[in-house]
Amino acid sequence: MYKNILVAVDGSEHALKAARVAGEFARQMQAELRLVTVYEPVPTYLGEPNLQHALDERFALAQQVIDGALQEIGEIPGELKTDVLEGPAAEAILAVIEARNNDLVIMGTRGLGRLTGLLLGSQSQKVVAHAPCPVLLVR
Ligand code: ATP
Ligand code: MG
Repeated sequence: MYKNILVAVDGSEHALKAARVAGEFARQMQAELRLVTVYEPVPTYLGEPNLQHALDERFALAQQVIDGALQEIGEIPGELKTDVLEGPAAEAILAVIEARNNDLVIMGTRGLGRLTGLLLGSQSQKVVAHAPCPVLLVR
């Protein structure tokens, strides 16, 4: 039914669960999967070499987030691609959906944010509000 799934992860428990569900879906539906994580832009006022250090650090952390999610996804029959992007997360995720024509997005209800009382995180809220395709939120 869904052939081109995007899963977004930030290293949180919810996102790891979303990755597990995305793996299940990809196996059941023989779908392609795109795994995306977004890191915060580095402020340019840091100047060199601090700017490069900060970037390297963010990139390394993002790679760890990707590796953790890949473990949860497991083997899938279709293609599995990964993207590490910079920006505000929801905007970057929405841009990827637009560019790649994903037909399903899977995310966590919550992420790494500390306001645990909230029902939905701000990033999942924005994606649900603006995505052109169905969004599955995993808790
Ligand atoms: P907030 O960020 O509003 O304080 P939160 O961190 O609890 O709250 P969100 O950031 O909306 O909630 O996280 C919900 C889901 O969105 C995560 O489980 C993950 O799937 C996705 N997500 C959040 N941040 C990122 C990110 N930087 N890169 C990729 N996916 C993300
Ligand atoms: Mg968050």
